[in-house]
Amino acid sequence: MSHDASALGHIRPWRHIERRKSRQIMVGPVAVGGGAPISVQSMTNTPTTDAAATIDQIRQLEEAGADIVRVSCPDEESTAAFRTIAREARVPLVADIHFHYKRGIEAAQAGAACLRINPGNIGSPDRVREVIQAAKDHGCSMRIGVNAGSLEKELLEKYGEPCPEAMVESALSHARILQDHDFHEFKISVKASDPFLTVAAYQQLAEAIDCPLHLGVTEAGPLRTGTIKSAIGMGSMLWAGIGDTIRVSLAADPVEEIKVGFDILKSLGLRHRGVNIIACPSCARQGFNVIETVGVLEERLAHISTPMSLSIIGCVVNGPGEALYTDVGFTGGGAGSGMVYLNGKIAHKLANAEMVETIVSMVEDKAAELDAARAAQTAALQAAE
Ligand code: SF4
Repeated sequence: MSHDASALGHIRPWRHIERRKSRQIMVGPVAVGGGAPISVQSMTNTPTTDAAATIDQIRQLEEAGADIVRVSCPDEESTAAFRTIAREARVPLVADIHFHYKRGIEAAQAGAACLRINPGNIGSPDRVREVIQAAKDHGCSMRIGVNAGSLEKELLEKYGEPCPEAMVESALSHARILQDHDFHEFKISVKASDPFLTVAAYQQLAEAIDCPLHLGVTEAGPLRTGTIKSAIGMGSMLWAGIGDTIRVSLAADPVEEIKVGFDILKSLGLRHRGVNIIACPSCARQGFNVIETVGVLEERLAHISTPMSLSIIGCVVNGPGEALYTDVGFTGGGAGSGMVYLNGKIAHKLANAEMVETIVSMVEDKAAELDAARAAQTAALQAAE
């Protein structure tokens, strides 16, 4: 059993998050909503017409753990390249379409698992019908993406400015078009760059409709401030049980969006991937250089996808206590050595100079052990069926 603190949720009621009950839809093989794990998405920023570069970026996102990747299709050349990209991608792709109905049809035919398109922007009822038919024919779901920055003119006139009511009204009017065509495989996002507006809009939407919700604070900003804004905005919604799939929007490498997305979910105990490193900020009591060590370990352990925990603490003030609840732990001591913990128990003394290598191999061994235990459990469950 992993010592991941979030696994204690069932016996720690204050850790429990009651998730909003939503309908489930599929984005390719990935279930979204209806209690499915909250999926993490990002978006490529290579020219889609450069299929090789886009596939390369999708690989990086897949390696970082992306469940779903979105790719823009602004023109016909892009939807043509999308076919090659979709064939190579190991994760389902969402084609990002704006306005032009033909791009939507082409993307559905080219292997998109989902279309990000607002039916109210497509144009004539015939065009709307054609896009919806293409989605039905090719097993595509859709995402209605309402953005505070591009609300319909009538709604801005009615409400005076982008506000939660206007965003929800826009979302529901797009949804009605799909429902009128008996199309229910859709999710909705109502994003704004202001976390207050975003959260209020999602709260209202969550009450108004039962479809899965794609969360995001749009154009959140550069890596540090964008991460903080996203963690506050999405974190408060997820904590309240709202959200079925997330995309962190950063002006940074898309791989960072995936890492931040998982870190937000990990912090809330909603999803676990990789090593959750617990580390102290360090102070004059530290028995080794905590900050430098944690930086090295983070890099050296980036390949581990098994959910587990590691505590790296500078001294005995907090080290032994934290180590009790982690799979692997190290607490700094005096005279160039510290104490290693395994499964919450003291294992042995360890020289600081050997710490990184030893910890890396202990974490790798523990990950292999947890993977084997999980595989055996799955096999036993299957045999019992
Ligand atoms: S655990 Fe020790 S080294 Fe780390 S911040 Fe606290 S007192 Fe300082």
